[in-house]
Amino acid sequence: MKIKFNLITQIFIAFVLAIILGSIFGSSIDFLKPFGDLFLRLIKFIIAPLILSTLVVGVAGTSDPKQLGRMGIKTIVYYLVTTAIAIIIGLAVAFILSPGKGITISKIGLSVPEAATQEPQSAITTILTIIPENPFMALAAGNILQIIFFALFIGLAITFVGAKAQPVYRFFEGFAEVMYKITNIVMKVAPIGILGLLAPVVGQYGLSVLLPLVKVIAAVYIACILHAAIVYSSAVKIWGRMSPITFFKGISPAALVAFSTASSAGTLPVTIKNTNENLGVPNKISSFVLPLGATINMDGTAIYQGVAVVFIAQFYNLNLSFTQLLTVVLITVLASIGTAGVPGAGLIMLAMVLTSVNMPLEGIALIAGIDRILDMMRTTVNIVGDASAAVVVAGTEKDRIEVIPTE
Ligand code: ASP
Repeated sequence: MKIKFNLITQIFIAFVLAIILGSIFGSSIDFLKPFGDLFLRLIKFIIAPLILSTLVVGVAGTSDPKQLGRMGIKTIVYYLVTTAIAIIIGLAVAFILSPGKGITISKIGLSVPEAATQEPQSAITTILTIIPENPFMALAAGNILQIIFFALFIGLAITFVGAKAQPVYRFFEGFAEVMYKITNIVMKVAPIGILGLLAPVVGQYGLSVLLPLVKVIAAVYIACILHAAIVYSSAVKIWGRMSPITFFKGISPAALVAFSTASSAGTLPVTIKNTNENLGVPNKISSFVLPLGATINMDGTAIYQGVAVVFIAQFYNLNLSFTQLLTVVLITVLASIGTAGVPGAGLIMLAMVLTSVNMPLEGIALIAGIDRILDMMRTTVNIVGDASAAVVVAGTEKDRIEVIPTE
């Protein structure tokens, strides 16, 4: 008898297998890495043309410009509010678990990682650089916010021009279909890709690396799970009118890809695919909400900032005042807008947050050694948060398509 597993099951099997193989073989499992890189390159190469084509079609296909404005405001408000809640949950869980008490420096290898020494951008620069000086350079560099800006303008202008712009519209429509097809083909290698990405990570982090910081890991993971279970479940239920189980099940392949790649930008094609196909969010909503979310919405990263700040304060025996905590919340929400969804971005944000409350930057080195383990979880929450926004916007716009099971 031949058993055929659907894609979700295959991905899940790869995930479990990666953990088992990584634990058994340690770093000798590194030979699987090229499979991970293969998958990563394949999904990355879809991103720029996928965002451009689907967003142009989404915007041009929305005949009512007022609806566009409304969707934009809803999306941004949802992103900001959920990020603020996320960091508060992170701070609260960290205060309860006290991850920084009883840790000594000798237990942790100290070195400031390269990513953390980069200068964070100011908020004004971030906003100004959304406008690409050259849209083709934006496409070439894969700058998501700039591509969104370009696509929004083309889409709007198509609507304003009307009949004469129809050939342009149809071109992008066909192009978007082609990009969806490519995404589907690429997803076929997802299971082997996930195995190749995850097994070496599991192999690399033996218990000895993780144990001294096990409380930090627990705090980040618990806060992330709480945030998803409370905030996303309620939001999709109340505004998206969708059962949380349907939601989490539908987004699970993208969640596993995010966990393995630690990049929400890299996971974007899968997030869009799952949100359209499994959660019934129409393209005109997902093509706008998700790329924007992959860049500016980072609830998992915000949770991590909360935990990290409390951890570092406890480690250095510093007291955090209420004003400092408030500053942490504000700076994190702002910093998440300017930080790209790539592996390790949260560390750069942490540098910004620590500076804003006058805490020692060396604190970063304390948890840098286990950053990947934390990054995997926060990226997962980041993209699940983006998808929940898409469901909420679709629900409140009373705009959901029938979900047709594809497998
Ligand atoms: N890796 C995360 C993401 O891509 C960002 C972070 O480092 O927290 O969403």
